[in-house]
Amino acid sequence: MLIPSSVIVVFSLLLVGSYASVQDFCVADLSLPDTPSGFPCKDAKKLSVADFVFSGLGKAGNTSNIIKAAVTPAFTAQFPGVNGLGVSLARLDLAVGGVIPMHTHPGASEVLVVIQGTICAGFISSSANTVYFKTLNKGDIMVFPQGLLHFQINSGKGPALAFVSFSSPVPGLQITDFALFANDLPTELVVATTFLDAAQVKKLKGVLGGTH
Ligand code: MN
Repeated sequence: MLIPSSVIVVFSLLLVGSYASVQDFCVADLSLPDTPSGFPCKDAKKLSVADFVFSGLGKAGNTSNIIKAAVTPAFTAQFPGVNGLGVSLARLDLAVGGVIPMHTHPGASEVLVVIQGTICAGFISSSANTVYFKTLNKGDIMVFPQGLLHFQINSGKGPALAFVSFSSPVPGLQITDFALFANDLPTELVVATTFLDAAQVKKLKGVLGGTH
């Protein structure tokens, strides 16, 4: 059977294209500066399986803090093997009364799975400020769309444990209260931009470490 030469040309181009674009992995070389397209790759000849394993999520983070919670990340900075792969993970430990305050990840959607305890979690849509929240129990998972404000609260009587995965190795994290009150923006500007009263702003600045 005769195959038209144009088909062969197209097929060859597809092969060339796919071979040219395929890179199995790019373990981050954290000794070099970050770039807009991620860290440069470690020399593949110097890699071992250890570059693809992270053992830092095995024990609980320290929850002796204002939020009574700990986020232990396995992002590119801690786990260079995820660089460029579009995934990462973190461990959430929430003591009784603990909360991951309202926050966003500018760079990733998040999936949470509850391993232990009871967690009330939710997010707010950006289009209509619709709130979606639910009490989650062991084995439940919930997804938080990229960039949207969301929270997790330990609503049970004991400690809670969850793992979250992200659709980026560098999801980013901005906690709203810290953004608003742990900075050096003058109090009157915080008041003007939040509609809170000055006493409340000063109190939160004091608690969270802001100045002015
Ligand atoms: Mn989150």
